[in-house]
Amino acid sequence: MTRYIFITGGVVSSLGKGLASAALGALLQARGYKVRLRKLDPYLNVDPGTMSPYQHGEVYVTDDGAETDLDLGHYERFTGVPARRGDNITTGRIYSTVIAKERRGDYLGATVQVIPHVTDQIKDFIRADTTDEDFILCEIGGTVGDIESTPFLEAIRQFGNEVGPENALFIHLTLLPYIPTAGELKTKPTQHSVKELLGMGIQANILLCRADRPIPENERKKIALFCNIRPERVIAALDVDSIYQVPISYHEEGFDTQVLEYFGLPTAGKPDLSRWTNIMERVRKPQGEVTIAVVGKYTSLLDSYKSLAEALTHGGIANNVKVKLDWIDSEIFEDDSAVQKLENVHGILVPGGFGSRGTEGKIRAAQFARERKVPYFGICFGMQMAVIESARNMAGIVDAGSTELGKPGNPVVGLMTEWMRGNMLEKRTEGTDLGGTMRLGTYPAKLVPGSKVAEVYGMTDITERHRHRYEVNVYYKERLEKCGMLFSGLSPDGELPEIVEIPDHPWFIGVQFHPELKSKPFDPHPLFTSFIKAAIEQSRLV
Ligand code: GLN
Repeated sequence: MTRYIFITGGVVSSLGKGLASAALGALLQARGYKVRLRKLDPYLNVDPGTMSPYQHGEVYVTDDGAETDLDLGHYERFTGVPARRGDNITTGRIYSTVIAKERRGDYLGATVQVIPHVTDQIKDFIRADTTDEDFILCEIGGTVGDIESTPFLEAIRQFGNEVGPENALFIHLTLLPYIPTAGELKTKPTQHSVKELLGMGIQANILLCRADRPIPENERKKIALFCNIRPERVIAALDVDSIYQVPISYHEEGFDTQVLEYFGLPTAGKPDLSRWTNIMERVRKPQGEVTIAVVGKYTSLLDSYKSLAEALTHGGIANNVKVKLDWIDSEIFEDDSAVQKLENVHGILVPGGFGSRGTEGKIRAAQFARERKVPYFGICFGMQMAVIESARNMAGIVDAGSTELGKPGNPVVGLMTEWMRGNMLEKRTEGTDLGGTMRLGTYPAKLVPGSKVAEVYGMTDITERHRHRYEVNVYYKERLEKCGMLFSGLSPDGELPEIVEIPDHPWFIGVQFHPELKSKPFDPHPLFTSFIKAAIEQSRLV
C-alpha cells in the first residue's frame, strides 16, 4: 500500500525543503522502504527549461528527457532512484492540460474552475505513474501564503481527506531564528506559518524546524502547544557541515521514527546508515586538497551548477581529497593577463552554457589547459568551446565557430536539425519553439576501444543525459583528428560526436552530455573520479 507524505515550507524560502525531502527519502530507504519523490511547483512556466539559471538555478534533466526543478537532482542523488518526467509538475503544465481538455470538450457542459478541475488534475498527477512504492513524498514548492501555491495546498488537503489520515502525512518545514539581543530561538514565525496552513485546512503533523542551535526543551514544548503537535514531533533540523550529514542528523533527532510511528509502522531497529557514515568519514578526513577552476557564465549563483558542484565533490570523495572550487566568470579571460588566474589550479572545467557572453573567455581557458597540459573537462558547451579552440589553433581553421554565436566561416559547431531518438526521427528548424525542444534525455554512445574514455568507463557502450541544441559537426572529424584530437565517442549511427579527447595530454576530455546529472555521493561518476585523480597528479607538479 502506498502512503503519501506532503512537505510544505513556511516562514522564508531557501530553507532547504528539497534537501530535507531527499534526506527523508534516503532515511526511509535505509529502513527498507521503496520511495519516490515528486515536486509540485507553483509557477506558471510549463517547465523550468526556459528560465534563466539566475532565476531558478540549474535545470535538471531526467532520463526520459524532462527539464525539471533542481530539487529532483537532490532526490536522485540521495535515493539513487532515477527521476522521471512525471515527478515534477508546475502550474503551467496543470493549466495547459486543463485548457487542452476544455478545448477538446472533455468537460462538456461544465464551467471549468480551480476547484474541482485544477485540483483534480493536481491529484491525478500525485497518483500517476507510480508502481509498488511504499511512500510517495511530494514537496510543494514555494512558501505557505504565496498566492500561487493555494490550488496545490487545496489539492493536497483534498487528497489527504480522500486517502485518510492513516495514509497521508503533512510535514511543515519552518525556521526558528535566533535573536542575539534576546538570546533566544524565536517560535512566533513558526506558529504563524502553521496557523496559515491550518487556515487552508491542513494540520501539520510533524514540524521540521531549521535552527542554528539545539532547540531548548521549553521552546519545543511551546511550539508543540501552540501548533497542536506532540513535542516529539517537533524535530530540530540543525545546520550541519555537509549535506550528506543530513540523513544521519535527522535520524538522531528521531525524524524517521516519528514518520513511521505516525503511520503505525514498526519503529524498532535502526536504519542502515552506513552509506552516509562512510561518506561523512571521507568528507571529514580528506588526504589532501585540489583546486578546480570552473570557468562559466552563471558563477555568481552557485545553484546554477548544483549537480556539477556535487559531482566534483563526489570525485573528491572517490579519491579521498577535498575539492576546492574556484568559480571564475569566463568574461575576465577576454583580457590576456587574466589567464594567470589559472596558473595554480589543478584542473579546469568549462561547464554547460548558452549564448555568446563570455565564450571567447571559455575558448581561452580551453587553450590554456591544452597548451599547459592542465587537466581539462569540457561539459556540453565546454566541449563545443574546446573543439572550436582546437579547430582554430591546432587545425588552423581560424574562422571556426558555432552558429549559436553568429555566422562563422566554418561552423564547427552547428544547429542540430535532425537526429534519431530510438526509432523516431526528431526534426528542428531555427524557428522551432525554444521550450522543451532541445536534444533532451538519455542517448546511447559508442566509445572508441582503447581511448581514454573507454578506459575511464571500463566499457564501450554508454548512455548519458543530454540538453543541447547545437552539436559538433562530424564533417570536421577527420581534419581535427589529423591534428591530435580524437573523436572517442559517437552516437551509434556515427553522426553525432559525443566525446572528444586529446590523447597527447594528461587529461583533456570534452563531452556533449551532462555526466554530472548521474553522479551520486555513494556512486561517483567515473569521469569525475578520473578528472579529480588527474587533478591530484597535477597538484604534485605545481
Ligand atoms: N548552448 C549549447 C547548445 O545548445 C550548449 C548547451 C549546454 O551546454 N547545455 O548546444
